[in-house]
Amino acid sequence: RGKAEGRGQISVFQPAMAKYAVLQLALERELRQALALQEFRLVYQPQIRLHDTQLIGFEALIRWYQPQRGEVSPIDFIPFAEQTGIIAAIGDWALDEAMAQVQAWASAGLPVVPIAVNVSALQLSQLDFADSVIRRIRRLPIFLQDKIVLELTESTLMQAQSLQSLQVLTQAGIAVHMDDFGTGYSNLALLSRMSLSKLKFDRSLIQNIPDNHAHQQVCRALLDLARALHLEVVAEGVETMAEAQWLNAQGVQYAQGYWFSHPLEKEQAQRLLV
Ligand code: C2E
Ligand code: MG
Ligand code: MG
Ligand code: MG
Repeated sequence: RGKAEGRGQISVFQPAMAKYAVLQLALERELRQALALQEFRLVYQPQIRLHDTQLIGFEALIRWYQPQRGEVSPIDFIPFAEQTGIIAAIGDWALDEAMAQVQAWASAGLPVVPIAVNVSALQLSQLDFADSVIRRIRRLPIFLQDKIVLELTESTLMQAQSLQSLQVLTQAGIAVHMDDFGTGYSNLALLSRMSLSKLKFDRSLIQNIPDNHAHQQVCRALLDLARALHLEVVAEGVETMAEAQWLNAQGVQYAQGYWFSHPLEKEQAQRLLV
């Protein structure tokens, strides 16, 4: 009986595994195809200075329009792209696209603001990543080389192997912002040794902050930390005027979120550059 059960379990287990593997292969093939068929695009979410709402930059966010499925959220394919390693090619595409955008705006005579490109942990862990990014950014005209910024999440940066790559990037003058700050577990000693440019406070901390006393206290403590480390702060996911006002009153310099603007198609983003 035990044997039969064991066999039964295996026969139930295997098809599920096979099904998962097949799905995985299919999605990987689709992502590769998506690159070849140019199904990805970047949208640009404005980042603004709180005290005067002036535009200070954009965050580039990837979008995948798959003809059969429609728009697929990055939340649904980025983690998968990381598992299969295809994130490296997608990440290269995103960086090239953001660089091309910066150049296109400059060529049109527009005042260019920095574009922040999201970088995943798997990309940063690749040995040649930092050098390859530096090489590519250096191909831009000098006056545009500081217009590409990298966003790395707190959990990525806190991985032991990250510090080396981070140092190579920041020593080359590339600005790195810490994304989703407040959701992971920062090693504060390590944080003080990183030459970051900005901390992005995660949306989960910002949401309803005018009504959430606990979040207010955490936010104030993290702001003190940012000040001690001479880091400017971008509040993510600001959805209401009350949140924006509270953050401004606390001395948060910058914000991003639906209250100011949803991510924009490149043509709409361009209209903000005047
Ligand atoms: P993230 O880098 O933290 O980006 C912020 C996310 O919050 C974006 O979601 C943005 O559209 C959304 N957001 C902005 N303001 C608000 C707001 O006021 N309220 C709410 N509820 N959401 C807001 P999106 O575009 O779906 O991207 C999700 C995540 O996917 C990103 O989080 C990032 O981790 C990843 N991602 C997006 N593009 C790329 C990329 O090119 N490369 C990599 N490696 N990851 C990317
Ligand atoms: Mg980001
Ligand atoms: Mg974020
Ligand atoms: Mg996030």
